[in-house]
Amino acid sequence: MAIEDQVQQALSELLEAGATIEELYSSLGDTFERERAASGSYEDIKVLRDRWLGRKNGLLAATNQHWLKKAPRELKPKIGQLQNKIKQSFEVALAKALKELDERQLAHPPIDVTLPGPERRIGAKHPLQVTVEEICSIFSALGFSIAEGPEIETFYYNFEALNFPSDHPAVDEMDTLFIEDKVLLRTHTSPMQIRIMESQKPPLRYLVPGKVYRHDTADATHSPMFHQIEGFAVDKNITFGDLKGTLDHFAKRLFGSSIKTRFRASFFPFTEPSAEMDVTCQGCGGGGCRVCKQTGFIEMLGCGMIDPNVLKAVKYDPEQYQGFAFGLGIDRIAMRKYEINDIQLLYQGDIRFLRQFR
Ligand SMILES: [Zn+2]
Repeated sequence: MAIEDQVQQALSELLEAGATIEELYSSLGDTFERERAASGSYEDIKVLRDRWLGRKNGLLAATNQHWLKKAPRELKPKIGQLQNKIKQSFEVALAKALKELDERQLAHPPIDVTLPGPERRIGAKHPLQVTVEEICSIFSALGFSIAEGPEIETFYYNFEALNFPSDHPAVDEMDTLFIEDKVLLRTHTSPMQIRIMESQKPPLRYLVPGKVYRHDTADATHSPMFHQIEGFAVDKNITFGDLKGTLDHFAKRLFGSSIKTRFRASFFPFTEPSAEMDVTCQGCGGGGCRVCKQTGFIEMLGCGMIDPNVLKAVKYDPEQYQGFAFGLGIDRIAMRKYEINDIQLLYQGDIRFLRQFR
């Protein structure tokens, strides 16, 4: 159907519905305005102008022809008047749209492709992130899954289920940041041991990196927020030998195959027996220096066999399942790896410092 016929049809329908001639023009104006609002380029506006104001085939010309022809004599001056008025308003609207386009062009001139581009600095990963990714990839290769957990924890998950006696110094408010009674900022990533064991059945191998919080005064070696990685494995027939083999492999992958590890007896509420793993001091290569206090070794992480009480808390039978767990401070490992002597540098966001780690 030709445009003129379409207009004619639409108008007839409106007229039959009892619309006045003013309402007909107002409806035309609305349609035009909708189309104008959707026109965002010079090309759009040219098309719009041709469609509505074209001398021969424009929509206004078509209405003029049909209405004037059809209208009773006494309405003809009225229609002529409205026709002129709407034509003028369309012209004003199109001129305004063009002006706005011009202004936009001036504010955002088209790109001169011959100019050299602005230099953009390439970002660098934070040394902590690099360290986390490296540690996670070593354990992923051993079949460990990565999980994260809530930083706001309950007393139960942070202490009770992990076999902490209520008089343990870490439970004291001096160390723990309580939010309200029995709700706190986790002091370690170990609560995820419980959460994962509660929701899954062995065999389990998990690594849990994340932020932890302690009531500590910030200095070169302390920060009230720092990072840990918790790791644990639960299965049948897991022994302390599995623990040692896994962590020795990990330390050699992280620091190089020439380093040695040693295990010293220690104590943690949630492991039994417990140990600390030391690695060869990189400062002296094991010969003894000021950093390692002449021992040739540096403490690296805490570990142990998961205490039967912890297994019982998640309704595992300790006769059937055993497991080992370990926890290490990411910040300290990153500091040793990159020879950073102040933990605060990791948190100050100083771009000059961070830029060094590409
Ligand atoms: Zn040393």
